[in-house]
Order: sequence, then structure tokens, then C-alpha cells
Amino acid sequence: MKVKIVYDNKALPGFKSAWGFSCFIEHNINLLFDTGWRYSILKYNMEKLGISLDNIDAIFISHSHWDHAGGLKKLGFKGKIYVPPSSNLKGIKVEKGEFLPNFISTGEINGEQSLIVRNGDKLVIFTGCSHNGLKNVIRIAEEYGEIYGIIGGFHDFKEIDLLKNYKLVMPCHCTKLKKQIESFPNAIECMAGKIVEI
Ligand SMILES: [Zn+2]
Ligand SMILES: [Zn+2]
Repeated sequence: MKVKIVYDNKALPGFKSAWGFSCFIEHNINLLFDTGWRYSILKYNMEKLGISLDNIDAIFISHSHWDHAGGLKKLGFKGKIYVPPSSNLKGIKVEKGEFLPNFISTGEINGEQSLIVRNGDKLVIFTGCSHNGLKNVIRIAEEYGEIYGIIGGFHDFKEIDLLKNYKLVMPCHCTKLKKQIESFPNAIECMAGKIVEI
């Protein structure tokens, strides 16, 4: 499984940065997680990473905030878009559980859903802003198996020592204690343009 960071507050040289988040998960299904804010930046970074609309099998939207779903409309994706039930976005309202093979929604909490991807016996969690509380997300993911890593926004999650238990943590946009988490040996700095193999 390969994860490409498409949209983040920070970017590698040659990529554009802006407030928001999106990543592309290449697995048995190629899924775009969130779409950032500005379509022009989403498109620019997607092209740089070699992602075209034809490569995307499905889109998963964590929550309808502009910095996560802003780029969606202009993207003009015709396939399946999985959205949280309370959102006004057009798409399939997804409940807790496996909605595509190996792709599991935590279900919506506080307007937001997170994604759990099964990679053999490894579970990787993808979060938008974590308005749903990272602790809640972790608790739900544990029902499905052992957590290998977490990628995305961790919001104001404070029990950061818990994150040392995982093989990989990648705190992205919207993480209050980003600097502290980035000092952990299992942490990878999040930036648009980064590719992580799991
Ligand atoms: Zn956000
Ligand atoms: Zn948000």
C-alpha cells in the first residue's frame, strides 16, 4: 500500500502548500481521502504525483469543512463518493463498517468520519481534522485489529504518548501538538508530495 500526500499546510519543493488535507491511497482500490480546499492546488499536486481522475476508484470525505471538501466539486469525479451521513455533499452516506474491501469507516462522530484501511494484518487510520476525537477513532479501529499507523490531522489530541505504540504516525494539517509528535522516532513529517510505503 502506498500513500501519497496530495494536500497539506506544508509541501516538498516543487509542490504547493495550502490549508487543508488530502491524500491518495493506492491499494486494492485507489482512493482519494478528502480533497483539500482549493481545486487549483489539488489539481497541481495530483498531476505532480501522477494521479489522474482515471486512477481514482473512489473518494472518501471525512467531513464537509471547506479545507477537506473544497476541491471536490470542481474535481468533477463521476465515481463513488463516500460522505458522512449528516453532510450536504452529494454522495453515498456511509455508516460504520467496511464499505469497500479493506476500507472501513469509523462511522460519523461529531460530523466527521475517519477511515481505516486494512493492509494484510496492518491497520492504518486516516483522519481529516479529528473533530471526532482521535481517542474515539483509535477505540473503534481497535475493534478491527491492531493499529499500525495513523496519518492525518490529530486536532487537539493530548495523550500523545499513546502514539508511540504505533509503527508510524504522520501528524498533518490541524494537529495542535505537531512539533512534539514529530519528535517521536516513529513520526514522519507530513508534506504535500511525500510518498509513504506501508
Ligand atoms: Zn481541517
Ligand atoms: Zn475540520
